[in-house]
Amino acid sequence: MKSVWLQENKWEDVEGYLQNKKTIIVPVGSVEQHAKHLPLGTDSFVALRVAEEVGQKTNTLVAPPNWVGWAPHHMAFPGTITLRPETLTNLVYDICKSLVYHGFEKIIILNGHREANLPPLKIAITKLRNETGAFLAIADPFYIADQIAREIKVSEPGGVGHAAEMETSHMYYLYPDLCDPSKAVKNIHNKHPFLQHDPFVEGDTVFVPSDVGTYREGAKNIGVVGDPTVSTKENGEIYHHALVKNLIELVRYCEEEVTVEVRKREIPL
Ligand SMILES: [Zn+2]
Repeated sequence: MKSVWLQENKWEDVEGYLQNKKTIIVPVGSVEQHAKHLPLGTDSFVALRVAEEVGQKTNTLVAPPNWVGWAPHHMAFPGTITLRPETLTNLVYDICKSLVYHGFEKIIILNGHREANLPPLKIAITKLRNETGAFLAIADPFYIADQIAREIKVSEPGGVGHAAEMETSHMYYLYPDLCDPSKAVKNIHNKHPFLQHDPFVEGDTVFVPSDVGTYREGAKNIGVVGDPTVSTKENGEIYHHALVKNLIELVRYCEEEVTVEVRKREIPL
């Protein structure tokens, strides 16, 4: 396999791959505002770069990147593109169903967009699991590297948000040319602890969706929630290696410990 990217291979390469390997990684991201210091494609850039590296280190194929996700709140700033949630569900459903049809039995969705993409993605893979018997998982770089992120985190409570510390450090490491550290500003909310940005990160919280008006206001008219002023390329590198290591372990787990019996292979029609 010359390239881990599915689209850079020939069909015969894929046929050969499937004779001894059944795993594939599917990167999904988002094109949405990331304040004034990070590019709109941040979540997708992270997903595709991490997927590529994990693919190379484990000889695993990677499906073409899915650039656009579900990001209605980020429509508060220009350039953001959002799918309707059912479009994202259907997109990922059709891609994975096509892959299962050809003989891929273990699919790891690498989601660069954290919690906003999760509901549509969870619906897609739960349907596919029940219908086909294939093994599907969603791995989110942010959650799979949570332990190291807590260890190296510098920002105060509330510093984890959007275009914030860890995401910014990661981008400084992966794509320095697309970032502008001079534009990074801090925006820590004094919210009630129940209302933190991400229920997976800040503990006992309540989910309260934003609309474009409240999001723009809460993001200080800039698009940042949290503190990217403490971000460094060095911490981005530590974080990156930890998350790649954990994802490699996930691929190994899929390959060696997950047994699958695919019951149904169908063309999405
Ligand atoms: Zn992001």
